[in-house]
Amino acid sequence: MNFKICDSHCHLQDRRFRGEVEEVIRSARESGVEKILVPGWDLRSSREAVVISEKFDDVYSACGVHPHDAKFYNDSVEREIIKLSKSKNVVSIGEIGLDYYRDLSPRNVQKDVFERQLRVAEENDLPVIIHTRDSIEDTIEIVTRFNCKGVFHAFDYTKNFAMKIIEMGYFIGVGGVVTYPNSKIFSSIKEIPLTSVLVETDAPYLTPQPHRGRRNEPSYTKYVVKKIAELKSKSFEEVAEKTYNNTKKLFGI
Ligand SMILES: [Zn+2]
Repeated sequence: MNFKICDSHCHLQDRRFRGEVEEVIRSARESGVEKILVPGWDLRSSREAVVISEKFDDVYSACGVHPHDAKFYNDSVEREIIKLSKSKNVVSIGEIGLDYYRDLSPRNVQKDVFERQLRVAEENDLPVIIHTRDSIEDTIEIVTRFNCKGVFHAFDYTKNFAMKIIEMGYFIGVGGVVTYPNSKIFSSIKEIPLTSVLVETDAPYLTPQPHRGRRNEPSYTKYVVKKIAELKSKSFEEVAEKTYNNTKKLFGI
């Protein structure tokens, strides 16, 4: 294989992978996926991410509380997240952010918990993995108040927002949504420079074409790379290499 891919966002600790993690990682390797980053969404899934990353080579983890779960965040959760963040193979705080689409936690709580975790990242010098849905303006406003770096994962906004994020020094995480022709990222990826793009699956969610409707898995990162290459008129290898190097640069992996 003359290329290597990094799946920068994959929830291997999700129950849909239970009992199959080893096989799923093996199949990812066969598809050229050399490195995988597993983010948490609450305390338990963050702990599980750390366990998986310690068990397999070239698998890394992130710990953090997702906006859906922000209502369960408190001082003791924060202390645990800080403690976990010092474990081997934890390379980021995430996923954290705002989600006004599902609003599973009150918006003021989401904002507060997002800010608190950005502060944790800033103080511990770790990059962040940001989830933002129907909340891009507030997300950008909050992020600008912190001296962090990171990625806006599963990005699906227009070019103007992409450019703002790149100006802030952040990366754009592109996943399976880029293979859906009615998505915003399908239309905007052409104008987003590869120097600011990471690729991901967000498995088991957001399965790319041609497997849409089934469980997503890290080996499918190749479909994301392929679609970006096609839409930007670049070679598969160039997209794989540049996004791989970007992931290395951001997370040091
Ligand atoms: Zn995710």
